[in-house]
Amino acid sequence: MTKIDLLLENLLKQDVAGAVVSDPVTINYLTGFASDPHERYMFLFLMADKQPLLFLPALDAARAKSVVNFPVVGYQDSENPWDKIKAVLPQTDFTKVAVEFDNLNVTKFKGLETVFTGAFVNLTPLIQNMRLIKSEDEINKMLIAGDWADKAVQIGFDNISLDKTETDIIAQIEFELKKQGISKMSFETMVLTGNNAANPHGIPGTNKIENNALLLFDLGVETLGYTSDMTRTVAVGQPDQFKKDIYNLCLEAQLSAQEFIKPGVTASEVDAAARRVIEKAGYGEYFNHRLGHGLGMDVHEFPSIMEGNDMEIQEGMCFSVEPGIYIPGKVGVRIEDCGYVTKNGFETFTKTPKELLYFEG
Ligand code: MN
Ligand code: MN
Repeated sequence: MTKIDLLLENLLKQDVAGAVVSDPVTINYLTGFASDPHERYMFLFLMADKQPLLFLPALDAARAKSVVNFPVVGYQDSENPWDKIKAVLPQTDFTKVAVEFDNLNVTKFKGLETVFTGAFVNLTPLIQNMRLIKSEDEINKMLIAGDWADKAVQIGFDNISLDKTETDIIAQIEFELKKQGISKMSFETMVLTGNNAANPHGIPGTNKIENNALLLFDLGVETLGYTSDMTRTVAVGQPDQFKKDIYNLCLEAQLSAQEFIKPGVTASEVDAAARRVIEKAGYGEYFNHRLGHGLGMDVHEFPSIMEGNDMEIQEGMCFSVEPGIYIPGKVGVRIEDCGYVTKNGFETFTKTPKELLYFEG
């Protein structure tokens, strides 16, 4: 059964016979066709008992036809897309039409209102649920994305120097990866030195790499449509004992959570497994974000690994484990691996060592 058939089957159970997919990532997930239409329109129309129809800018139509095995309709910039959609859709009178509430903007929503007669219901939760459990094929792609992240962080390590700035090192990482055929990072690469790492949303800039301090790398590589995400914090020179103690506390929390993960425990309990280690040591207030997030084709998906989320962890779920301790003006540490839940545990996509690594500036 294809993912589209499975989606339609689930929709029919809710008496929904029509759906409009507007998020390019969801379209890729369902069809294998990857494209970013930017401000133009791309919709995948799904109808019970009918073939799907992919509507998109004419310039992308030929490529789409080579990927999908159902009708593809392109529109020219000079054409009114809504008139064309009305003309080509075999059915527009549904009682209920599912659309992605979390993606659709108001302009698209108003356009779709002129096409369909039925009530709009939310497609987003169903898509999120389908994407929650990854197949073996998806996990294999994420292992490759993780392997690239390990390579990327190693390039970062090789470029540590007191002469360089945070953005110098980022430039070097991304330059080397691009030469090796990687076109996209999962998100903006972060290299943060010293006190800048003590800010969980610090922004890399022209700060020179500090000596006798910690240096944080948070990065991910997108490949084959899947993302990776990892953080390593390393020592430059000889940081003082306090910084090393905070590092080791963060590591203990990260490993405790990873060891705790298995099918049947809840997301909330996984968060607590890391958080209690940091709280016990008296630094709970400095770990001020959730433990982790799901990832897959998007770098942030479900499940959310946080207090209050009673979702049961299941085999095939993929998420990050990333405790951090940020003491403003003093020290910042985060250690992050993403991984997948196995029958009885958790395997990480990234393998870079986690004992505190030392580098000469
Ligand atoms: Mn993350
Ligand atoms: Mn990260």
